[in-house]
Amino acid sequence: MEQKLKLWFTEHQTEDYGITFRVNHVYESEQTEFQRLEMVETDEFGTMLLLDGMVMTTDRDEFVYHEMVAHVPLFTHPNPKSVLVVGGGDGGVIREVLKHPSVEKAVLVEIDGKVIEYSKKYLPNIAGGLDDARVEVIVGDGFMHIAEAVNEYDVIMVDSTEPVGPAVNLFTKGFYSGISKALKEDGIFVAQSDNPWFTPDLIRDVQRDVKEIFPITKLYIANVPTYPSGLWTFTIGSKKHDPLAVAPERFHEIETKYYTPELHTAAFALPKFVKDLTI
Ligand code: SAM
Repeated sequence: MEQKLKLWFTEHQTEDYGITFRVNHVYESEQTEFQRLEMVETDEFGTMLLLDGMVMTTDRDEFVYHEMVAHVPLFTHPNPKSVLVVGGGDGGVIREVLKHPSVEKAVLVEIDGKVIEYSKKYLPNIAGGLDDARVEVIVGDGFMHIAEAVNEYDVIMVDSTEPVGPAVNLFTKGFYSGISKALKEDGIFVAQSDNPWFTPDLIRDVQRDVKEIFPITKLYIANVPTYPSGLWTFTIGSKKHDPLAVAPERFHEIETKYYTPELHTAAFALPKFVKDLTI
């Protein structure tokens, strides 16, 4: 009988808690200019991208995160034509963005070219959209791109790593002000804002900062089994359109595995201890 490889990887969320996977094969393991990058194969979740020892995406559960980042703001905006994704070099958010026929242009600004290169090679089902004619891929710092953009985008999505290394600036009030300036007058933005079990202060800080800039600020949740605690949050900031007031006829048909019009609304119903972080 073939012996399974006994190579285990643990992402530590605290000194005393982590999530562990058995790894079958290591495709890549290297220090890029910006971070430690691993691309590994597992039986349970398929191919996984790890950055600085943290799970970024996996073949099996990636659809939850990518659909929820993209479709909540895109269905909230009545006519999204111009979209920016900051980070997101695996291409999953872009793949979802391209399902919206109104989108004419989607720009991806990812700081680490190696994430794009290896995602195209090892995660083709996720990264496929990066070669679409509507997509412009820029290898650069999303913070700098935002600082230079004025009145350009209908929707901005921040699909960043946790606030360590190159992503530290992406969790600052200055960045959210820049996003507001880069958005058109009825623009919307969304950012992944980590989990309420181990990073409640981060969620509270992001909510506070975004509220000072965007008249409509809300938090929504999704279940991502490979992220710490499994309960993930997203902060949405909108200048005009309320994600909880989308006219039913605006939900056009798209193919999804997690997102539905019912879930669009339900995702904003927060457990009490999570809701308390938004006050
Ligand atoms: N979904 C993941 C999560 O929440 O765990 C994150 C996906 S991962 C593809 C995020 C990407 O953000 C990484 O590839 C990283 O290189 C990129 N990134 C980090 N800081 C950045 C910055 N300042 N500008 C652009 N991209 C950045």
